[in-house]
Amino acid sequence: MEHSEQHMYDVVDALVRAGNRFRPAQRRWGTDPFWPTKSAQECYLEASIDFAVAKAVPGQPSELVLDEGNDLIFCALCFTAITGPAYRAETVWDHTR
Ligand SMILES: [Zn+2]
Repeated sequence: MEHSEQHMYDVVDALVRAGNRFRPAQRRWGTDPFWPTKSAQECYLEASIDFAVAKAVPGQPSELVLDEGNDLIFCALCFTAITGPAYRAETVWDHTR
């Protein structure tokens, strides 16, 4: 079955409606919540992810990883990630892991 990252936009929309904000990426046609990175596309949220809101978004694939301990949502089908500040703090500053 065809898979697009549209479902990740639905998750971001729900989180923004619940009060979160993302760092807008400059794209050729305006702004977009997802920044292209080497391995994936990533949405940088300003506040921690509300997982109750994320889980309530309909139409999500079983490949969607809701990693509450790491403040991370990742789709293994379209390699798209939504990260909260706790996730980024660990990846940037904790070099011992
Ligand atoms: Zn996906």
